[in-house]
Amino acid sequence: AVPVAIVSGLSRAAARGILIKGGKALEALARVRVLVFDKTGTLTRGEAEITSEIVFGGLSPRELLRLAASADQVSKHVVARTLVAAAEARGLGLAVPSEAREVPGEGVVATIDGREVAVGGVGFVTALTDGDDADPLRMLGKDRGIVVAVAVDGRLAGGLLMVDELRPGAADLLHRLRGLGIVRIVLATGDRRAVAEAVTADLPVDAIHADLAPGDKVAIVVAERAFGAVMMVGDGVNDAPALAAAEIGVAMGATGSAAAAETADVVLLVDQLDRLAEALAIAARSRSIAL
Ligand code: ADP
Ligand code: MG
Repeated sequence: AVPVAIVSGLSRAAARGILIKGGKALEALARVRVLVFDKTGTLTRGEAEITSEIVFGGLSPRELLRLAASADQVSKHVVARTLVAAAEARGLGLAVPSEAREVPGEGVVATIDGREVAVGGVGFVTALTDGDDADPLRMLGKDRGIVVAVAVDGRLAGGLLMVDELRPGAADLLHRLRGLGIVRIVLATGDRRAVAEAVTADLPVDAIHADLAPGDKVAIVVAERAFGAVMMVGDGVNDAPALAAAEIGVAMGATGSAAAAETADVVLLVDQLDRLAEALAIAARSRSIAL
């Protein structure tokens, strides 16, 4: 029989928008000691406004955004959804992409109006161009936000800057988690180190891993096991393998990818990071009742 404490823990969590996929997951939650966070779309909203752009070689800023957003229609990445929403809000008529291919967590290449458009992180896009100078793009962001690079027909065409704001209450939440058995908090992001450091400047974070390729997050989860049972929290398609590798994977269910939600042991059905602390508190209480 399933202990009453587990059933009531699961149902109390569900009532708060926290889907815990069974008693084993609830028990594992109570053992978690290390928290590994994804950044974009998890610790930050990842969907802020475009604040500035830089354009090379004759495109207008509107055309740069239109091409980038047209290609990014095939992606579910938070950055891609922001670009598409921004283009639609500006009334730009998006083209239908053809021959689109996405590298999850890195970017998209697609044919737009007969031109090959690449959109994504600076590293991903510049690797597809002929040694064009990407320094102006890197300078665009400094440490203030996410830089999205755009190339057209193999030449760097420009970049768009978006502020990447912490979710409200992120600092309070991390401090609360320290009182709920978490002894180590680690950030793991595909974004640049400067952005990761700026965003976590006032947060109780023990280590930052930046510029990660999607596969790297798994290695970080595995390495962090040395400090105790690992809970990984993420939203992206590219986070799914790391969610699976962690003792407990938590997906941002309201805004994140379906792949992350399927792989995770816990899905936050409401877009509220503070539910993480509630999940740990419910797990701890269920265990003490069960003992
Ligand atoms: P995190 O690990 O912090 O969630 P990601 O690895 O998901 O961040 O994304 C890192 C960076 O990759 C983003 O900041 C963005 O520049 C870029 N990126 C990834 N996918 C896309 C896309 N489809 N369109 C535009 N940019 C993208
Ligand atoms: Mg993310």
